[in-house]
Amino acid sequence: MKRTNTKVQRPLKLRVRRDDIVQVIAGNDRGKQGKVLKVFPKRQRIIVEGINFIKRHTRPSQQNPKGGIVEKEAPIHVSNVMVVCPKCSSVTRVGMQVLDDGSRVRICKHCGEMMTT
Ligand SMILES: [Zn+2]
Repeated sequence: MKRTNTKVQRPLKLRVRRDDIVQVIAGNDRGKQGKVLKVFPKRQRIIVEGINFIKRHTRPSQQNPKGGIVEKEAPIHVSNVMVVCPKCSSVTRVGMQVLDDGSRVRICKHCGEMMTT
């Protein structure tokens, strides 16, 4: 019997992109908003400016000669955030729309506007 490889996934496209403004809906930073600095599509995680700081105890290095405790943003799961629409500035869900030329754009489910970023 042949086993199918279930690990193969098609590339996951996140609804959240870099430079989006998102609002955190879970965890310690619930209710806060910030800009998306980085996305990790494979892990479904993002780094949001000013959100989910963790304290890193670091040894002295060349970049950081003193060492000690460094606060840094840690990645959070995309399911813990919602996108803030730049047009209507409300927290919204993101939909997908296929244009006539076949390209896919994100739309705000709240006001129906395209999100171009
Ligand atoms: Zn909107």
